[in-house]
Amino acid sequence: MSLALTGKHLIAGAWVAGEKTFETSPAQGPARSYAVGTPGDVATACEAAEEAFWSYGYSTRAERAALLNKIADEIEARGEAITEIGTQETGLPEARLQGERGRTTGQLRLFAAHIEKGDYLDRRHDEALPDRQPLPRPDLRVMQRPIGPVAVFGASNFPLAFSVAGGDTAAALAAGCPVVVKGHSAHPGTGEIVAQAIDAAIKACGVHPGVFSLIQGGNRAVGQALVQHPLIKAVGFTGSLAGGRALFDLCAQRPEPIPFFGELGSVNPMFLLPQALSARGAAIAQGWAGSLTMGAGQFCTNPGIAVAVDGPDLQSFMAAATEALKPVDAQTMLTDGIAEAYRSGRDRISGAAGVQEVLTTTCDLRNATPYLFSTTGKDWLANEELGEEVFGPLGLVVAASGFDEVVEIAKSLQGQLTCTLHMDDGDAEDARTLMPILERKAGRVLANGYPTGVEVCDAMVHGGPYPASTNFGATSVGTLSIRRFLRPVCYQNMPEAVLPADMAV
Ligand code: NAP
Repeated sequence: MSLALTGKHLIAGAWVAGEKTFETSPAQGPARSYAVGTPGDVATACEAAEEAFWSYGYSTRAERAALLNKIADEIEARGEAITEIGTQETGLPEARLQGERGRTTGQLRLFAAHIEKGDYLDRRHDEALPDRQPLPRPDLRVMQRPIGPVAVFGASNFPLAFSVAGGDTAAALAAGCPVVVKGHSAHPGTGEIVAQAIDAAIKACGVHPGVFSLIQGGNRAVGQALVQHPLIKAVGFTGSLAGGRALFDLCAQRPEPIPFFGELGSVNPMFLLPQALSARGAAIAQGWAGSLTMGAGQFCTNPGIAVAVDGPDLQSFMAAATEALKPVDAQTMLTDGIAEAYRSGRDRISGAAGVQEVLTTTCDLRNATPYLFSTTGKDWLANEELGEEVFGPLGLVVAASGFDEVVEIAKSLQGQLTCTLHMDDGDAEDARTLMPILERKAGRVLANGYPTGVEVCDAMVHGGPYPASTNFGATSVGTLSIRRFLRPVCYQNMPEAVLPADMAV
């Protein structure tokens, strides 16, 4: 399928032009114009989503599974067009976008299979006890029901898997919730082609068109109006801490506050325990360099910090990491703004008290090259800013004076998406000391691996305490993420003839 872009919003099955347009700044290829969204577009989409909820929210699981599978098919049918516009807009290589497309369609199909199994409804039944003394017990049943229209904000760094038909949209549609997406202004064309796929699937499945809308950005007022719209019942957001926090605050200030599931940034610390560092420090350093520079370091799970007790093994580790990072070529970043933020993050780290340069390179324009810095545990503990995310291929080694200081550093961490232990059998005691701390800090704790590469499956947690996420009880990846868009409803003494079909177990 060739590239056929309208530059319009998709609002409840209709392609709608904007009074104003904005121009893209692609990494390569021509700049294009897209409609700027308005609060009026948001209102039309939200009203259509509410109307659609009265049928879609009560549809069968088989009907919703058919829609999810059809969306996956339609995305695949547009694979070439998605890769063509996606590489232009984001600068990501073709192979990466093809892989991400597979992950996106896999996610949609996984949710289809998940809802068909029915476990997610978490149905429970306490049978009536009419003869119970001193009071009889009524018949009580509970199950999870969809919450209503959901707003979704995708991230710039996953233009497919965390965007228009990404994990949030798949989870919400699986739950029975219509979706209004605020398109990311870094990849509006990619977003539009994916919206065309969703539109085609909705029409083929005979679903109410209000089930899905895409409103292009170009103006921050769009996202602000969307999270404040009274018909929106929850928000799925993947992006920066600053953007996420601004929108979270707006949700909390609404007359009817709603949950804001913001998946934000993280520095994903790795703890290098002594036996592992001594036995295979060079191999860990090589693996770290690969993870740190993958995708120009533009991953929320990028392991930006390595913590270990100082000594010759840590010095050898740093030397090996430097050698592995040196030959990494400059990579194009997703947007000019992200490249600029990377350079200012680098300047913030390099200018901080007690920070030494280990590997410095030169990056300019929209390029990122790797940097490596080191500091002592004492300096790290004295400066909270060293624990803030730099979005790009920048590593900081924290050399602790002893294991007690490693524990202190772990305790001082902010909430993280991931924490990693590199350990051998002889490190088990240290690892057991760190585990209760790391569990409190992160949504996922790894041993002997690298956190980039988030498996989409039943057991994944992609979330964590603030600021990794604004809602530590949730995950944005994996089948458990459907829980964000459901709420339990209890049915008391309800005759079977009246109960929702899914409740009849
Ligand atoms: P971003 O700049 O926060 O943008 C995300 C979305 O929010 C965009 O649609 C943006 O609109 C909108 N937005 C941002 N600030 C806003 C505000 N004040 N008011 C209204 N709307 C606002 O984030 P990004 O550049 O896409 O992504 C990079 C960041 O995402 C990194 O920090 C990374 O760590 C994080 N991330 C986290 C995860 C995770 O799962 N935890 C995954 C990927 C990325 P515009 O289109 O107008 O810019």
